[in-house]
Amino acid sequence: MSRIAYVNGRYVPLRHAAVNVEDRGYQFSDGVYEVCEVRGGRLVDERRHMERLARSLSELRIAMPCTPAALSMILRETVRRNRVRWGIVYLQITRGVARRDHAFPAPGTAPSLVVTARNLDLASAENLAAQGVAVITVPDNRWERVDIKSIALLPNVLAKQAAREQGAREAWFVDKSGHITEGSSSNAWIVTADGKLVTRHADRGILKGITRGVVAETAASQGLKLEERSFTLAEAYAAREAFITSASQIVLPVITIDGQAVGNGTPGPIAKALRNDFHRHAEFA
Ligand code: PLP
Repeated sequence: MSRIAYVNGRYVPLRHAAVNVEDRGYQFSDGVYEVCEVRGGRLVDERRHMERLARSLSELRIAMPCTPAALSMILRETVRRNRVRWGIVYLQITRGVARRDHAFPAPGTAPSLVVTARNLDLASAENLAAQGVAVITVPDNRWERVDIKSIALLPNVLAKQAAREQGAREAWFVDKSGHITEGSSSNAWIVTADGKLVTRHADRGILKGITRGVVAETAASQGLKLEERSFTLAEAYAAREAFITSASQIVLPVITIDGQAVGNGTPGPIAKALRNDFHRHAEFA
C-alpha cells in the first residue's frame, strides 16, 4: 500500500508530496510540528497536542492554516488513508511560501500544512521496552526557547546521531550547570534511591511533553511522589531507575547512561508500571 500525505489541501501519494522550495520551513526552519501516537486507529491525547500546537504557533506569530475542527478531520483522514493501527501522525505548519527574506512575509501569506502518518512495529517497540535502552549525554547547545515545538532541530539531530554512533538510543542534554534538561526527542526522568520520581520542571528550558504530563498523572494515581526540578548528571548516574517519555515511545526504560548501568542495569519496576498504566490515563479521540 502506498502511503498518502496531506499537503496544503490535497491528499497525494507520498512520493509525489512536495512543497515549494521557497517554503519558509525549507528556507529557515520557520515552522512548528506535533506528533501524536495513534493506537487502535485512534489519536492519543489529541486535545493536549492541539493546545500545545496553538501555543507554539502563537509564540512564533504563525497563523493556524485552518480551523481546529478542520485540522482534526485532516489528521483523522490521513490516519485512515494510511491504515494506521499503531503508529504516529505527524503535522507541520510553516509560515508559508514567500520570496526569500528573513523578515516575515506579507500579512495574509497562507501558512503551509503537511500531515503524514505511518504504522510502527508494536512488537519491536515492546521488545525494546522490555530490554531497556542506552543513553549518552551531550552539552545542551540549543537556543533558549526549546519550549516551542519548532522544526529547527539541528542540535537535536546532531545529538541523536552522536547517540547512534555510540550504540545508544537517545542523547540527554546537559546544561551549563551540569543538570540534565531532556532528551533530543524525549523527556528525561529518574527514580531516586528513596523511590521519588524526578523530571525537570517545564519552563522555557525543555519541551513540555504531552506524555510527560500524562505520566505525571499516572504516577500520582499509583501513589508515587514526583519532584519537578532539575537533576544533575551525578544524580542520574546514582539513580535507581531512569526512563524517557515521548508520544511515540510512551515510557522507555533506560538501563545505561554514558555506559554506566542504572540500578541493576535492567528495566525498573516503576518505569514498567508507568508504561503499562499509561493508556488508562491518556485521552482517546
Ligand atoms: N522533548 C523533545 C525535545 C522532544 O522532541 C519530544 C518529542 O518529540 C519530547 C520532549 C516529548 O514530547 P511528547 O511527549 O509530547 O512527545
